[in-house]
Amino acid sequence: MAVPERVLNERLVEFGTTIFAEMSALALSTGAINLGQGFPDTDGPREVADAAVAAIRAGHNQYPPGLGIADLRLAVAEHQKRFYGMHFDPDAEVLITAGATEAIAAVMLSLLEPGDEVVLFEPYYDSHIAGIAMAGAERRLVTLRPPDYRFDPDELAAAIGPCTRMIVVNSPHNPTGKVFDREELELIAELCREHDLLAVTDEVYEHLAYDGEHIPMATLPGMRERTISVSSGGKTFSFTGWKIGWVCAMPELRDAVTTAKQFLTFVNGAPFQHAMAVGLRLGDDYFDGLRNSMRARRDQLSDGLSAAGFEVYRPAGTYFVTADVRPLGFDDGMALCRKLPELCGVVAVPNVVFYDNEREGRHLVRFAFCKRPEVLDEAVERLAKLGAGS
Ligand code: GLN
Repeated sequence: MAVPERVLNERLVEFGTTIFAEMSALALSTGAINLGQGFPDTDGPREVADAAVAAIRAGHNQYPPGLGIADLRLAVAEHQKRFYGMHFDPDAEVLITAGATEAIAAVMLSLLEPGDEVVLFEPYYDSHIAGIAMAGAERRLVTLRPPDYRFDPDELAAAIGPCTRMIVVNSPHNPTGKVFDREELELIAELCREHDLLAVTDEVYEHLAYDGEHIPMATLPGMRERTISVSSGGKTFSFTGWKIGWVCAMPELRDAVTTAKQFLTFVNGAPFQHAMAVGLRLGDDYFDGLRNSMRARRDQLSDGLSAAGFEVYRPAGTYFVTADVRPLGFDDGMALCRKLPELCGVVAVPNVVFYDNEREGRHLVRFAFCKRPEVLDEAVERLAKLGAGS
């Protein structure tokens, strides 16, 4: 049977297989250490896993309510109050989603008109621009540059035009690990208020801020009513495969996002929703312990990469560290990542895929450090051979 020459629609034609899938497949086929896709190599808290098993045994195996189970929506509202002093009505202002990825897609598909413009920072997380594209909207990018990845306020102001509908802020930021500080968030908030824009936040690394604190955009003056806050439990509880995320926003916005969400996955993960509520209610020692252990691994991998000869931009948050490969004699991160398993048995992600302006990210490579310390040690030892050989 003849297959049409091009089947993928115009909006998606720039999107092939995600770099995470490509690099994880490469790790699998070569047996290399996978520091590419960001997922932990150990399970999250035992009591949370037990709660999922108990939920299955207790028969929570049919469709949960469209908004998510009431107890998880309550737990999300409690979490927002406990960590940030924010008040959300669990019935009117919280929606449970299939991870933050579905939440972002539903936000874009429900709030954007074709031709609308969305301002976001480059490097961007891939699903943000895919959501914009699927909605038929356009992206306008403001580049974050190492070493500190601060943005130029004039560049941001200039990116906003008559068709701009929203600004997307991902903090702590994937892939750079930047944690936006209050002054930067204030600048963004001011532009949102001035131009009557929505703010969409991706806060999935909210509990992985090591230097500086995570400040939700919705806590800034005048932002509660215009911010759609997105987060999830995958990173916080080291269960990335469970895909339980949430949206917090004013009732009108929450309802709009729900309209799209119900036709994406409809609902998902009933037993995992019960377990996530248990996770969100864990004591401070859990959240502190996660941050401290991940901070130690941040230092371990950053120091190891420096010693191996990379120029390292030590991240303030997330579980990713970006390194410049030029000091080792390479200048093309994509080519290097494709060869890295063969060269030294490690997989990483080339940051160039997170840029439109490829020149900005060509020489940068991202390593995930959410792995056991002994795995990081072994990876660093292998990477040290790269420099030695060049
Ligand atoms: N968020 C993960 C990362 O940045 C990947 C998730 C995915 O594969 N879509 O590595």
